[in-house]
Amino acid sequence: MHTATVVGAGPNGLVAAIDLARRGLGVTVLEAADAPGGGLRAAEPLVEGVAHDAFAAVLPLAVASPGLRRLRLERHGLRFAWPEVQLAHPLAHGEAAVLHRGVGRTAAGLGRDAGAWGRLFTRHVRAVDRLLPDLLGRPGHAPTDALEMARFGLHALSPAALMWTRFRGDRARALFAGIAAHAGGRLDRPGSAVAAMMLGMVGQSTGWPVAVGGTRALADALVAELAAVGGRIELNRRVTTLDDVGEPDLLLLDLAPGHAAELLGGRQPLRRAVPHRRFRHGIGAFKLDLVIEGEVPWTAAAARRAGTVHLGGTAEEIAAAEAECAAGRMPARPFVLVAQQHLADPSRSRGDLHPLWAYAHVPNGYAGDATEAILGELERAAPGIRGRITAARATGPAALEAANANLVGGDIAGGAVDLRQLLARPHAGPNPYDTGVPGVWLCSASTSPGGGVHGMCGVNAAAVALRGLRAGRRFRP
Ligand SMILES: Cc1cc2nc3c(=O)[nH]c(=O)nc-3n(C[C@H](O)[C@H](O)[C@H](O)COP(=O)(O)OP(=O)(O)OC[C@H]3O[C@@H](n4cnc5c(N)ncnc54)[C@H](O)[C@@H]3O)c2cc1C
Repeated sequence: MHTATVVGAGPNGLVAAIDLARRGLGVTVLEAADAPGGGLRAAEPLVEGVAHDAFAAVLPLAVASPGLRRLRLERHGLRFAWPEVQLAHPLAHGEAAVLHRGVGRTAAGLGRDAGAWGRLFTRHVRAVDRLLPDLLGRPGHAPTDALEMARFGLHALSPAALMWTRFRGDRARALFAGIAAHAGGRLDRPGSAVAAMMLGMVGQSTGWPVAVGGTRALADALVAELAAVGGRIELNRRVTTLDDVGEPDLLLLDLAPGHAAELLGGRQPLRRAVPHRRFRHGIGAFKLDLVIEGEVPWTAAAARRAGTVHLGGTAEEIAAAEAECAAGRMPARPFVLVAQQHLADPSRSRGDLHPLWAYAHVPNGYAGDATEAILGELERAAPGIRGRITAARATGPAALEAANANLVGGDIAGGAVDLRQLLARPHAGPNPYDTGVPGVWLCSASTSPGGGVHGMCGVNAAAVALRGLRAGRRFRP
């Protein structure tokens, strides 16, 4: 029997492990933390009975991912729940731009930009089932629907700030900019529209749901599936040298490229070692978990029903804050993402105590405290919220990285998302999973198709690893 070791039990590592085990390999996953899941883990409760997601909270790509759908994880108890409103973006005077499932419903709330919004998204949303397998699949394949893919690519690879010039009102522009800002970084650069196009398309088709019971339920389901196909996980196993990985035929690394390069030492050829060591990480995140008594007093009515809320003002204000972060300066008003998981999944709350999940974009490695900046944005959109906070926990970039070494400098996207690293992630060429060392493959979010909970980096890496194994490319310890 062939064997494989997977280093890192994030969603990509777990899905890769499942695929390898399904093909009959004996698979062991080595995970540094004391719990599996990477970005899917739960955080310690601040108040008993109130559940917090440590990292990922809102899972549009998990629901849409062809790689996760085919695993039928509902067999292991996984369920998703949708809020009434997918996303609200409060603006001045109690107004909010709102993303709904359905382009028509979203457009209807955008006033004079309804037509332009519809023209941008209707085709893509109609084609989503054809587009997603190609967008998330291995690079270098002829797309199923080349014309639709070309249209989508043209939009996604444009600067976000250019894309929103097609809208005249603040609402559509801010809605687009806020979704684009998920990728983190400058919004006037080519490629910066990618998150808006991808998450906007998916949000208006399958929505922005949460996992019932917490994002960790997805990790639990993946672990159950891995066990069902004969794989196993060893926790508290930080891999620091190749001696730690045993003697497998395949070695898959759910790691940042720089860490993978360190692990592989001098074995990597320069054409891989150099881009992996020089791989650029993106801006950081500063996370704030709150326990709120009663509901958040949002001024905008739509935000009271929204699973996700974007704070940061107009498109121009968000772009300015993101540019500051990218330049290494902490903005006075950072872009803040808020999730209210309990609205879709009341099991997260205890009585009238609810978890509120928020993070601000900050410069990579930011060592300051962004708590007040986040509370300031919350207070602006929900006056009086401070009086309802019963517990709080701040987690800055260094603490995020300490909890998960892949979050380099607090970068939650697995690497800067710009045109270069969209097209060459983490190096140029048709096989982004190749480390240059026979039998050793990268499978983290630093490879194509990038960050987010979808497991497709793992699916793609496992497929090329198996193909390599058939061609005799085995790891030689
Ligand atoms: C604060 C935050 C919020 C986020 N919000 C969302 C969201 O709402 N929706 C969404 O889709 N995505 C979100 N993300 C991003 C998402 O979590 C990641 O894109 C995704 O988890 C990447 O999966 P991965 O398998 O590549 O790596 P990870 O999930 O990062 O897992 C990597 C694993 O490898 C382990 N590891 C690292 N080094 C070693 C080593 N040397 N030895 C052994 N194990 C090691 C780590 O402990 C970790 O468990 C968020 C991320 C963060 C941090």
